[in-house]
Amino acid sequence: MRLTVLGGAGGYPPAWGACSGYLIEHDGFRLLVDPGYAIVPRLLEIVPAAAVDAVLVSHGHPDHVADLNPLLRARLMGDHDAPPLPAYALPGALSPVLALDQIRALQGASEVHEFGAGDAYPIGPFAIESRLLPHSIPNAGVRISAGGASITYTGDAGPSDDLVGLADGTDILLAEATYVESVPSGNAGVLNSALEVGRQAHRARAARLMLTHLMPGTDREASSAAAGRSFDGWIGVATPGTMVEL
Ligand SMILES: [Zn+2]
Repeated sequence: MRLTVLGGAGGYPPAWGACSGYLIEHDGFRLLVDPGYAIVPRLLEIVPAAAVDAVLVSHGHPDHVADLNPLLRARLMGDHDAPPLPAYALPGALSPVLALDQIRALQGASEVHEFGAGDAYPIGPFAIESRLLPHSIPNAGVRISAGGASITYTGDAGPSDDLVGLADGTDILLAEATYVESVPSGNAGVLNSALEVGRQAHRARAARLMLTHLMPGTDREASSAAAGRSFDGWIGVATPGTMVEL
C-alpha cells in the first residue's frame, strides 16, 4: 500500500500548498481520501483525473471536499471517457459541493455511496472501518487496510478513545493536528493538537504518526516535537509529495 500526500494544510490552501488530500494505492487501485481545496493540481502532477478509482470523504467541510468539483470537471472535460466516480461519504456530506455546478453532464460524473459512521465496507481492494469521531459536524475516522497494512485517518477530530480503538496497532496514524500544544477554547473538543495526537498515537500503539491539517504558518518542527513528547515512533508532517510505502 502506498500513501501519497497531495496536501496537508488546515483551513485554507497556502501558497503552493493544498488542504487535506491523500492518494492511497494498492494493487493498481487508486483511492483518493478527502479532496480538499487545491488538491486537484497536485493530483494531476501524478496521475490523470480518470485514474482515480474512488473517493472517500471524512466529512463535509470544504477544506476536505471542495475539490471534488474540479476533479469531476477534469474527468468530464479532460478525460472524456472517465466512468462515474464512486464517492463514499456520510449522509448529506457531498450535497453542497455537488450542488455547486450547473453543468448537466456533471450530474452523472459521480456515484454517491453514503455510509454510516461505524460501518465497515470494502472499496476495491481496501477494507474500510469507520468510527464517528468528535467534530463540529459529523466526521468519520477511517481505517483503510489492504495487503496486511493499514492507514488510520482521523478526518478532523477532537481527542477520543474511539480513535485509539480504531487505530489500535495501525501502521500509520494520519492525524489532524491543527494546533501545536493546545486547542483554543472555541474549538476545544472538535479539533486536535500535535501534543494530544502524540498521546493518542502512543495509546493506540501506532507504528508511525503523520501529522496533518496544520494551520498554515505553523512551525512544523514545533508540532513534531510536541507529538514526540509522548510518541517515540517515526513522526512526519504531511506535505504535498510526501510518499510512504507500507
Ligand atoms: Zn472539519
